[in-house]
Amino acid sequence: MDETNNFFPSSGTPKNLDTQSIPLFPITFVVVNQNNLTGEVTTDTMDEFLDLLLRMHPIGKHTSQLRLQTYTTNLKLSNTGSGWSELLSELDTVRNNDAGGSSQYYYGVVKVDYQQGVAGVGYIPSSANNSGFRTAIGWDYLTPASSGSYVLAHELGHNFGREHAPCGNVADADPLWPKESSYSNGKISAYGFDRVTKELIPTTYFDLMGYCEPQWISDYTYKNVLAFRKKSSLGKTAGDNSERPQVWIWGRYDSGRFILEPAFQTTMVPLPPEPGPYRLEGIDAQGQVVFFYDFQTTKVADLLNHEHFSFSIDRPADYERILTLRVRDDTGILAQQQGTAAIQLQPAKTHTVLQWHAESYPLVVIRDHTTGAILALARGGTTSFVATPGAQLTAVLSDGVQSETYAFTNP
Ligand SMILES: [Zn+2]
Repeated sequence: MDETNNFFPSSGTPKNLDTQSIPLFPITFVVVNQNNLTGEVTTDTMDEFLDLLLRMHPIGKHTSQLRLQTYTTNLKLSNTGSGWSELLSELDTVRNNDAGGSSQYYYGVVKVDYQQGVAGVGYIPSSANNSGFRTAIGWDYLTPASSGSYVLAHELGHNFGREHAPCGNVADADPLWPKESSYSNGKISAYGFDRVTKELIPTTYFDLMGYCEPQWISDYTYKNVLAFRKKSSLGKTAGDNSERPQVWIWGRYDSGRFILEPAFQTTMVPLPPEPGPYRLEGIDAQGQVVFFYDFQTTKVADLLNHEHFSFSIDRPADYERILTLRVRDDTGILAQQQGTAAIQLQPAKTHTVLQWHAESYPLVVIRDHTTGAILALARGGTTSFVATPGAQLTAVLSDGVQSETYAFTNP
């Protein structure tokens, strides 16, 4: 072998090395129990899952930890994909509600009862600039052929903003994938280098963001992941990271159906929505919009036509007034959640109609707020009563033992 020409570039004049600094990559593994099967990952095997990610992607320094608690879901995962989207949504909720979770990538490890089919899913965050949607899931097979490690490297590629390389019947290939023939069919085009085995990777390998094998990372994917990682604020502590009272809003667009999950009150580092074409509205008993937030959805990779949304809103002092949360866009109302109290008022000519959830509350006491005088004792879910327009009233909803009180203005 001629060792006198081992120069790069071939002129023999060394180029300066291009070194770049990128933020720390912090990842938390989550053991998931689904269908009474517990995903296998331990502090001893985390490195095996991370192996190919660290060999291919521009990572630099990283930390890995195992979430202390196992996460149990009542979803069941199937090889055709059912359950995977909902589980991703749940884990994203777990991540943002864990102390320090929003400054970590979360990777759920699942055990499934099949060998072929959906192996992982992950978000493609629309922006590197917020801390949302750094969540993915993958199966726990480490053999054969480091399957679980390839799945992690692929799903984290999605979390780094990458879409699919066009190979192997991917559902939604990256529209910006290079058009040059050397990249055709999702090939990596440029030589790769495996810094563990010290081997050169042929240009005929397929990019890890496609479904073809053997896989390595293309220069296209590498440069884009690097750009995303450099922009990402995750793992840095900037701004006010204190936990505050919030309401967690989450849901999804699932094969043509818009779903608003039940909101819940929580204390967490706020995750405000990224503005977009959808609007969350909080509605009071009179049907008035008390607050609204515009938001966008985020794409779930490896499942067709799935988009999720999740964010937190500051919990107003009078949040109890809110009886309905709903999501709308230009076309109308897409989904809503109705609180059980659900009193609705409609003005009529000589009286006011009040409706409520009669199964939860067999009796409603309507009182004049100023004098305390009882105007009506109503049963059955709907009643009409007479009161002065503009009068301050109180509805006391009794479940038989306990009561909930709502103040409202007569229409
Ligand atoms: Zn994918």
